Amino acid sequence: MRPELLNPLFAEVETLKGVGPQVAKQLAKLGLNRAVDLLFHLPTGAIERIQAPGASPALLGRQVILDVTVSEVRLSRGRGPTRVHAVDGEGNTLTLAFFNNGGWAAKQLPVGQTRTVTGKLEAYGDEWQMIHPEVTEPGKTGPSLRETVYPLTEGLTSRRLRELVTAALERAPVLPEWIEPSVLGHNGWRDWRTSLATIHAEPADSAARKRLAYDEIFANQLALALLRQVSRRRRGVPLRGDGRLTDALDLPYALTGAQRRVAQEIRDDMGQEAPMLRLLQGDVGSGKTLVALLAMLEAVEAGAQAAMLAPTEILARQHHATLLKQLDSLGVRVAILTGREKGKARDSTLMGLADGSIDILVGTHAIFQDKVAYRRLGLVVIDEQHRFGVSERLLLTAKGASTPHLLAMTATPIPRTLTLTQYGEMDVSRLDEMPPGRTPVETRVIAEEKMVDVVEGLGRHIAAGGQAYWVCPLVAESETSDAAAAEERAATLALRFPGQVGLVHGRMKGPEKDAVMAEFSAGRLAVLVATTVIEVGVDVPNAALMIIEGAERFGLAQLHQLRGRVGRGAAKSTCLLLRGATLSETGRARLALMRETNDGFLIAEEDLRLRGPGEILGVRQSGEAQFRIAAPEQVQQLAPMATQDARLLLDRDGGLQGERGEAARLCLYLFERDQAVDLLRSG
Ligand code: ADP
Ligand code: MG
Repeated sequence: MRPELLNPLFAEVETLKGVGPQVAKQLAKLGLNRAVDLLFHLPTGAIERIQAPGASPALLGRQVILDVTVSEVRLSRGRGPTRVHAVDGEGNTLTLAFFNNGGWAAKQLPVGQTRTVTGKLEAYGDEWQMIHPEVTEPGKTGPSLRETVYPLTEGLTSRRLRELVTAALERAPVLPEWIEPSVLGHNGWRDWRTSLATIHAEPADSAARKRLAYDEIFANQLALALLRQVSRRRRGVPLRGDGRLTDALDLPYALTGAQRRVAQEIRDDMGQEAPMLRLLQGDVGSGKTLVALLAMLEAVEAGAQAAMLAPTEILARQHHATLLKQLDSLGVRVAILTGREKGKARDSTLMGLADGSIDILVGTHAIFQDKVAYRRLGLVVIDEQHRFGVSERLLLTAKGASTPHLLAMTATPIPRTLTLTQYGEMDVSRLDEMPPGRTPVETRVIAEEKMVDVVEGLGRHIAAGGQAYWVCPLVAESETSDAAAAEERAATLALRFPGQVGLVHGRMKGPEKDAVMAEFSAGRLAVLVATTVIEVGVDVPNAALMIIEGAERFGLAQLHQLRGRVGRGAAKSTCLLLRGATLSETGRARLALMRETNDGFLIAEEDLRLRGPGEILGVRQSGEAQFRIAAPEQVQQLAPMATQDARLLLDRDGGLQGERGEAARLCLYLFERDQAVDLLRSG
């Protein structure tokens, strides 16, 4: 339950004076539904205006306040604006132009009267001009010399927003301090309420902005630290294998050094009573599946069951097939459960899980439905962790009387600070070494106008017995339009390569998709046109060419993942990034980066550097927009400090006790990390 002190802040905007349904609707378009949202809707800057007696070249392009006397009004006739001619205090003639509200302008600016006009001073031919100036009567309060500017939506002015923010600020209570005094002192920060008021008055005040960003990151890190603490306190079962299965495993290759190291870290964790909570980061192709397999076998040797959660149906089936092949001869029983297993097959799997005759289960979300009961679930592996949010991780660790060990795996190479803010509750292992014998994928950036050449090249590749992926651009946020684009591309290519082109996209049903994938895997299709559904896991070694259309519209992490689909066989692989005609400077740099390196971690760090605020790699793509105030560079800078601050607070006080603990609890509520507080209670 949220502390009462904060209730006024979390009340709907309609409870603010002067906000009716109309305004509320406009605010909603900006995502501003409650007073607190207004409070955290930070200004982007300020306008400085100049009060002057008359127009002058030095003022061109500036926001200027002038007293003028109206000499003539020429109402618009059909096309063209209404023009009002006026004379300023120094005898210059100005034209005030109004494009759509001529009637209003004529009323505001009666001929012969003096008015104050405010707007951007421009030159039109050899005339002075202002377009849509604000008009006030002399002596009445008009625009001030300095005004903060907010991100706007149609129908709401900065002035109106400012009034509303002021009203919201009045509701902000004085709160006890949650930041460690030394951190506060060192940075010269003032209390959060003062800082907030400061930002809204002085948008450029960097100390105040930094404090607020810190507050938000601190809340996030505290929530993760709580999660960490609670999960450590839970009881699991130590699992120690005797090596009879892992030793018998028939591998055509030796483990890489990194695989061996990480496997040992996992074994050590699983041997403890405190449940493992470990994130395994490893670039595409670094061999995570094998590490997971070793961990699962360890669990089975110790008499427990293991479950492996895949983000897509395709991937679940692929894992299932791989595991069957490797484990059948060892007598390890593997089953699959997705939304598609129905009837008798499903019933028998459920029974096998309950009586313990199934050792390893692979599947999609279906494996954690309430009806699925395990006899002795000891280990949960989550593949491609970035598809799962914090809430799902919470859910997983909460399952059962004794908590299973958890191994989460991700190929999204996120920078270290972002690992801290997204997975701060977990221990992290990195597979930072590729299995030997890989030829790096050659990447080329090609203008989309050269499409004909690209298709010719594809033709030669196919003629030589090769296979290729063709990835279609993200047209919009909707799967429907992405699918339409992919359909169209597939149709065009099929004209050129009849009978050899397959298509998969997100709107297709599971069995349909699998059938096409199977055809492609078996080599009966030469080209697979796809949307990003092939992003994760898919493994067809003979496909050595990847063409990505509209490459600039993908995130770098995504491009890197897609590229990881090729370069899996012995043949040299190529990735063609087709770019649109208009490419920004940043877009150019990003594609160049893809061309220059295959190192996912390097790409991630650079991408973070190249991207603007609010575009954190991996975060937005996973739908986990964590921060609304803190910009990426602030996260970079402040996350380590906030993490330490949060952990110290918990370690010293053993929870959210004491004055600072209470304050920190308020901070969690303020930034809506309540889930963590609830967890503490249920603990
Ligand atoms: P990812 O980390 O992307 O999930 P996979 O586990 O799918 O990577 O491994 C990619 C490929 O590398 C697979 O074909 C796998 O059999 C192979 N592989 C894994 N470990 C090794 C190794 N130590 N030596 C050689 N090949 C390996
Ligand atoms: Mg994988």
